[in-house]
Amino acid sequence: MEVLTIEGQVLWGVSEIGGNKILLEDCDTRVFLDFGMSFSDRAKFYHEPYLSPKDERGLLEFGILPDLKGIYCFDESEAAIDAVILSHSHSDHASCIPFLKRMIPVYCGQTTASLLRSLSEVRIKSFETNIRELKINTFRTGDKIRIGSLEIEPIHVDHSVPAAYGFIIHTSEGTVVYTGDLRVHGTKAQMTLDFAKRVEEAKPAVMICDGTNITGADVSSEDEVKAKIAKVVSGTDKLVLADFSYADIDRF
Ligand SMILES: [Zn+2]
Repeated sequence: MEVLTIEGQVLWGVSEIGGNKILLEDCDTRVFLDFGMSFSDRAKFYHEPYLSPKDERGLLEFGILPDLKGIYCFDESEAAIDAVILSHSHSDHASCIPFLKRMIPVYCGQTTASLLRSLSEVRIKSFETNIRELKINTFRTGDKIRIGSLEIEPIHVDHSVPAAYGFIIHTSEGTVVYTGDLRVHGTKAQMTLDFAKRVEEAKPAVMICDGTNITGADVSSEDEVKAKIAKVVSGTDKLVLADFSYADIDRF
């Protein structure tokens, strides 16, 4: 990732879609905000169904997993982080949790936990999909999670999967906001606006936000998508096949 810095303030990072793993350290507390897989790094070496990693060594050797001590279940050293906090269940934010040491707790929304468990069951069994024995703690909007020196407030946002959250994180040196993925062109824009209002009130020192369309984009609203689909479906008396992202319940 490239980062531009002016007078110590990070203004802009240029990176890729996916692979969010943001390490937040405060006093002796270390947490990861999201723990996702980089699709583009993995796709350089592996293509299902013909070529899959046999074990974690390939992922580490090829740099698909960052070479970190005290994080992964296949390394003997003591746990080096206190928790992983997931904003939502999309793979680019969550799909590296099968590699975590089992004593490191994972925090996520209640529905995110259900989705992750369901996906782990229906996907082909492998070391990349095994989340058994992970300590998963769930939260809802309004909860406050205490981890070491941090107090974390999860707040709902609208996204293309249920149970997406942004976080207001109170640290010993001010408030940090992590937005996760959010949108206001969906069916539940009010949830994102609720989060934005709370963020404004919290007066954060730092906000961490990644976005595919951060410099501008021509996006269809979900209402437009619905209208277009309704037109297609009502225009035929034949079978209609629909394809959409697995957990985009609103589209379903
Ligand atoms: Zn997402």
